Amino acid sequence: SCEIHLTRRPEGLPNKECFKLVTRTVAELKEGEVLVKNHWMSVDPYMRGRMIDQKSYVEPFALDTPLEGGAIGEVVESLNPSLPEGTRVSSMNGWREYFISNGKDLQSLPDTSVEDQAFLGILGMPGMTAWAGLMQIAKLKEGDHVFVSAASGAVGSTVCQIAKLKGCYVAGSVGSDEKARYLMGELNVDSVVNYKTTSDLQSDIAKACPEGIDVYFENVGGKHLEAALNLMNEHGRIAVCGMIDQYNTTNPTPGPSNLSQLIIKKLKMQGFIVSDHWEHYPAFVQQMSQWIQEGKVSWKETVFEGLEQAPEAFLGLFSGVNTGKMLVKLS
Ligand code: NDP
Repeated sequence: SCEIHLTRRPEGLPNKECFKLVTRTVAELKEGEVLVKNHWMSVDPYMRGRMIDQKSYVEPFALDTPLEGGAIGEVVESLNPSLPEGTRVSSMNGWREYFISNGKDLQSLPDTSVEDQAFLGILGMPGMTAWAGLMQIAKLKEGDHVFVSAASGAVGSTVCQIAKLKGCYVAGSVGSDEKARYLMGELNVDSVVNYKTTSDLQSDIAKACPEGIDVYFENVGGKHLEAALNLMNEHGRIAVCGMIDQYNTTNPTPGPSNLSQLIIKKLKMQGFIVSDHWEHYPAFVQQMSQWIQEGKVSWKETVFEGLEQAPEAFLGLFSGVNTGKMLVKLS
């Protein structure tokens, strides 16, 4: 079985030399254990943070052991009666083809008409992040004017759709015209800014949000945050989900120069980590599954084939290679 190890802690943007493909033999199963073959694995921006040796909300990745992350697989051998062969499972044991488990770290997937890998995207952690950020953190209300950065990604594209379904005006920012066309054409987003081609980000966001911003769903940080602060309406809410603009910086990033906007406009700005909101996951899955069945929500995937492509897929998150969820399909 093959697996991918982190061999050194990257500084700045990681390169392929930070990763190593390692082959090892799979041990014999013991009583109570199952052998899982992964079919899909997720790469996510938060993994960059775990590559640094720092105290955070999750432990840093250890060097020279398999990396970890969301994965969907299937039990192919079982000495555990509660997990028979053929059971489809999700786990945090990605970045490897096979693994042995006693079942405690596995969740069986429900029988739905949706493809399994949706549980790494729209019905999984990224979808739940969009939901928690909008509903629990930003306390989204019908009629809110919402702005979301990294709007065509896994989280962002879900934010756009939930906010539209809740009767909001939605604008987003993306890094290509093709992504802008996708959001406007397929997801009915009201207005989109291409932050890579604009000469004045704030004035373009202002044009995209002619009545200001009530809710900013922050995925990027930096200039996006500064511009949004200036364009927030009174009593606006900022759900701070991510700051991908800063994940590969080597120097501390200066703070926005205009934090006093928080006072003047009586804004609320709150960071969150999706795992703290997991008690709402069942309600989220029920609502999202219903929207999917009714054809009210759609999603895109960008798929790299083969475990050896996983580092490239991961690095592609930082240059915007993906539209929707970035996934690796294991052969
Ligand atoms: P995405 O699918 O959105 O992929 C990342 C996207 O970010 C890229 O496609 C790219 O799109 C954009 N991007 C990359 N670098 C930059 C940059 N420097 N400036 C602006 N945009 C950039 O990833 P996710 O949906 O998984 O994650 C989105 C955000 O949510 C991340 O910040 C992530 O860390 C955060 N997150 C937070 C969680 C939490 O619990 N708080 C949980 C999950 C995610 P483009 O072409 O538009 O540049």
